[in-house]
Amino acid sequence: MTTKLRPRLLIIYTGGTIGMIENPSTHALQPFDFSHLIDNVPKVKKLGYDIDHIQFNPPIDSANMSPKHWSDIAQAIEEHYEHYDGFVVLHGTDTMAFTASALSFLLENLHKPVIITGSQLPIGEVRTDGEENLITALQVAAAIDDHGEPMVQEVAILFNDSLLRGNRSTKMSADNFNAFKSNNYPPLARIGLSITFQTDNLYRSPRHEPLTVRTSLDTGVMFLELHPGITESTLRHLLRTPDIKGVVLKTFGAGNGPSESWFTGLIREATSRGMVVLNVTQCVDGGVNDTLYETGNSLTAAGVVSGHDITSEAAITKLMYLFGLGLSADEVKRELEHALRGEVTIRR
Ligand code: ASP
Repeated sequence: MTTKLRPRLLIIYTGGTIGMIENPSTHALQPFDFSHLIDNVPKVKKLGYDIDHIQFNPPIDSANMSPKHWSDIAQAIEEHYEHYDGFVVLHGTDTMAFTASALSFLLENLHKPVIITGSQLPIGEVRTDGEENLITALQVAAAIDDHGEPMVQEVAILFNDSLLRGNRSTKMSADNFNAFKSNNYPPLARIGLSITFQTDNLYRSPRHEPLTVRTSLDTGVMFLELHPGITESTLRHLLRTPDIKGVVLKTFGAGNGPSESWFTGLIREATSRGMVVLNVTQCVDGGVNDTLYETGNSLTAAGVVSGHDITSEAAITKLMYLFGLGLSADEVKRELEHALRGEVTIRR
């Protein structure tokens, strides 16, 4: 792996377990400030990089992460974009995949690395995974290719032994060091004795234009997860939730839902009112193939858009982003049929 002589990196510390310490009275973990975190990783100095940091004040548990925070992170990157070679975002694992997905959409024409990492154990713990994740994230953010260009030019999650595309990632484990997977897209790099980039898998923005940062996300969206036994009145109420214009419908298997007429009727009624309904599978692996079964076909006939192999996290944040651009329902539907930042593979 090659790096510049003295790469300049900015760490954006948002919180999460990586920087948490135990509250002595409740014994619950709570976020602590950056000085505590960095004091626990003296090895960072050995990298020989110029590293600055900014932090959320106060740092937060990522269960409290919101679209406003995503805009703040995106704006911080925009403000410091020219000055740094790369960015490392330290973040709780719980909603890391949502943040990675949202940032991938907000940062248009990104040509520098934005590497998100965190840990399962606080950095002050003897067996922490935080130290290794932080050091590796910094190295990945500093890596350059043979032309001296940043190796990674997208939002990625570095965790344990892999570098993954951010908007393809999902938190898979609440207690394993290997907490993230990108089931429908191969890793961007393998982290072993060395960092081995899988160059064919790296994203390159098709446009050679300057970074454009969007900050508006529309929260008028929701998940609607199917389960056997969901009733007509529940579905009717959910589809009539005030101020909701986009729904990620989490369906069975290859994108299937009940074929009973009350079900497809309610969905059709919602789509003809202008609601965007995006079909995403509940399975962690694979995607929607709505022509495989009659039960999937009937959803398409009811005006539902296929999410193909997109993750739930990317689906919901993509809807927030597209509605945030001020697009109409028909325009949003059209954009859902394209990969904007490598978040989906569309096979026809
Ligand atoms: N609750 C923590 C958070 O997401 C969990 C973690 O960081 O692993 O902030």
